[in-house]
Amino acid sequence: MAINVDVYQQIKKSFGGKQVQLVAVSKTKPIEDIQGYYDMGQRDFGENYVQEFVEKVPALPADIRWHFIGHLQRNKVKLVIPHVYLIHGVDSERLLSEIQKEAAKANLRVNVLLQLFVAQEETKFGFDLSEFEGIIADLSRWPNVNVLGVMGMSSVTENTEQIRSEFKALKQASDRLVALNPAANILSMGMSGDYLLAIEEGSNMVRIGSTLFGAR
Ligand SMILES: *Cc1c(COP(=O)(O)O)cnc(C)c1O
Repeated sequence: MAINVDVYQQIKKSFGGKQVQLVAVSKTKPIEDIQGYYDMGQRDFGENYVQEFVEKVPALPADIRWHFIGHLQRNKVKLVIPHVYLIHGVDSERLLSEIQKEAAKANLRVNVLLQLFVAQEETKFGFDLSEFEGIIADLSRWPNVNVLGVMGMSSVTENTEQIRSEFKALKQASDRLVALNPAANILSMGMSGDYLLAIEEGSNMVRIGSTLFGAR
């Protein structure tokens, strides 16, 4: 599958007039497909792998807003921050501190989301709720990091009630952050398989890959 105009329009329509930002997840997909959705007006794209990300950026229009949605290793932070619009997967204090250090050196303020772990799987990354509370209590420790909200993933399961309750937990965490900083209101949750449920539960940013670009 290459790109698909109908699918793109259907996804937009399915937001039902709600303020939801679509991040088109283009990992492993060619430049031409990204350009295709760009030509339809899409500006937000998400990538997972640093090497692939830094190769794609210069080959595509400069006004793309690049989202780094993968697990970011600390030694790759400095490669990513000059190009990125938003880093979704900030999942440890050590990573926050590394972003702070490199952002200060580069004289940047880097937008991030705090990744929360709410799923049942053992392999997923993210803060648990008590760590999250500790982080958001004093964000001034990282002055060059601009925390804009929360990101999370549900468990891989057919059990929609479980997914729904995980999304509710993410929404509650987001509400806690918004109470402290009304501007930090991004809630990035929902992928191809569960984005409609995520929007029902309050998501305002969905990360959709395979529905747009085909299976990987
Ligand atoms: C790959 C990926 C997506 C997109 O997944 P699809 O199921 O293809 O829509 C969304 N979020 C993250 C963090 C991803 O790694």
